Amino acid sequence: MPKQHCPVCQNSITPVARYPNYVCAECATLAESADGRLVEITNANIWGGIQLRYRDTGEPHEETQVFIRGIKCEAREARFGGVVIQALASDGRARPLPEH
Ligand SMILES: [Zn+2]
Repeated sequence: MPKQHCPVCQNSITPVARYPNYVCAECATLAESADGRLVEITNANIWGGIQLRYRDTGEPHEETQVFIRGIKCEAREARFGGVVIQALASDGRARPLPEH
């Protein structure tokens, strides 16, 4: 079974071939806007879709791009419901990040 690691904290996570760069649940709680405010990412409603809002004011955060420990990530609706957050490379395509 292939191993997969969270691109942010490097912890082992359940391998998911469809989402090779997904961020673990713990890191997902650290998602921030570009200006450093915490952003909560949830399903918009029971039919799916995603909704991002600032945790401090509850205002909507219109973009799906967030930063987790400085790594640019994108939130999207997971294929079978829920939310998946994936790390993005600088060219905007998801791919493994280089080791630091
Ligand atoms: Zn993590």
